[in-house]
Amino acid sequence: MTNIILLGPPGAGKGTQAKRLVDDRQMVQLSTGDMLREAKTSGTEMGKRVADVMARGELVTDDIVIGLIEEKLNGASGGGFIFDGFPRTLKQADALGELLARKGKTLDAVIEIQVDDAALVARISGRFTCRTCGEVYHDETKPTKASGVCDHCGGTELNRRADDNADALRTRLVEYYKKTSPLIGYYYAKGQLHGVDGMAEPDQVATAVAKLLDKR
Ligand code: ADP
Ligand code: ZN
Repeated sequence: MTNIILLGPPGAGKGTQAKRLVDDRQMVQLSTGDMLREAKTSGTEMGKRVADVMARGELVTDDIVIGLIEEKLNGASGGGFIFDGFPRTLKQADALGELLARKGKTLDAVIEIQVDDAALVARISGRFTCRTCGEVYHDETKPTKASGVCDHCGGTELNRRADDNADALRTRLVEYYKKTSPLIGYYYAKGQLHGVDGMAEPDQVATAVAKLLDKR
C-alpha cells in the first residue's frame, strides 16, 4: 500500500489530484480541511470552535487535526492513504510519522505541487464546488455548462467556501509560507520529497503524479 502526502499552498490543486487518485487507484483521501468543514456543518462543539479560525484563514491547533487524523487511521482498514492538507506544521509531521510507525505503516512519498502565488490567487478567487459530488469549478476557467447545475452529478447545491476571499486567502498564504513550507526541507532531508509542476493542466499534473507513484 502506498501512503503519500500532497503538499502545496492553498489552490495548488491538492484536492483535485487527490480525487483523481481516489478514482484511478482506489486510494483513500484524508483531507483535514474537509473533516473540519464537516465538523462545522454538522455543528459539533469542535466545529463551532474552529469555524472563525478557518474563516480567517488561520491554522487550527495541531492537537485538533492530529486527533482527527488519528481517528481516521484507527477506523480505516486497508489503506493507500492520501494525506491532503495534513501535515501543515512540523509538529503535525512528527505526529504523522509516529502514528504511521505505530500502525506498522510507511510514508512512501511526499509530493509537492508547485504553483506561483499569482496563479493561486486567481484560482481561488472564483472557485466553487458541488456539495453533492465535490467537483471543483471556477467562474472564469471552468464554469458549469448550465448555470447553477453540476456537470458531473446534476446537483444544484453549489458552494463557495467562507475562506475563499481576498483577506482570508492572504492569511492562508502567509500561514503556508511560515508554518507549512518548512516541511519541504523536512521531507527533502529524509529523501522523500518529489516536486511536480502544478502550473500545468490538471491532466498533466495527474500524469506526473502517476509516474512518480509507478516508479516506486
Ligand atoms: P486549502 O489548502 O485550500 O487552504 P484546506 O481545505 O486544506 O484548504 O484547509 C482549510 C482550512 O482548514 C485551513 O485554512 C485551516 O484553517 C484548516 N486546516 C486544514 N488542515 C489543517 C491542518 N493540518 N492544520 C491546521 N489547520 C488546518
Ligand atoms: Zn456534482
